[in-house]
Amino acid sequence: MATGEKKTKIVKRIKVDVDKCNGCRACEVICSSFHATPKYSSNNPARARIRVIHEPLKDIYFPVYAGEYVQAECTGRNKYTIDGKQYDECAFCRASCPSRDVFKEPDSGLPIKCDMCEGEEEPLCVTWCLADALTYEEEEEVGEEEALDEMEIGLEALANKYGLPKLMDAMVRMSVSRKG
Ligand code: SF4
Ligand code: SF4
Repeated sequence: MATGEKKTKIVKRIKVDVDKCNGCRACEVICSSFHATPKYSSNNPARARIRVIHEPLKDIYFPVYAGEYVQAECTGRNKYTIDGKQYDECAFCRASCPSRDVFKEPDSGLPIKCDMCEGEEEPLCVTWCLADALTYEEEEEVGEEEALDEMEIGLEALANKYGLPKLMDAMVRMSVSRKG
């Protein structure tokens, strides 16, 4: 239930400068390692909450962060033309959705989302990006407190799609990973 109460919150953002990205994928490596169970025990970029889209002909690298899980795939598709090369809308989409495998836990198939490396002073992908393509920013924003609403809707959607036991199992593993 939304309370309508005004609250000040810190909004965290990572700015991406595509022109500076050289495709080294250090961001994918550290992100997947940070989220491994136990923490730092392995690295598998398929587990990363950031994925670097590559266009070989133009040598363009485009880091994309994992956003919210959505239950339904889009019914329409747009095309983007960048530097003369046409991209499908899905290439830059941040959502984990039924249409594609990106931003899903490889073992469980559960959606993954960037959590800004909760508990760390600065997002690790930013620290590890030696090309300075990623910049961390914090900004104060006043708005209605709706976090609980969003969390409840998200959890309900996940439970409907994957079943409660699988969801609980993933949450227990995440909790162990954070403590590790
Ligand atoms: S670490 Fe930085 S330069 Fe390397 S792929 Fe990621 S965003 Fe690009
Ligand atoms: S901020 Fe942390 S969780 Fe998000 S993509 Fe970067 S390393 Fe991964």
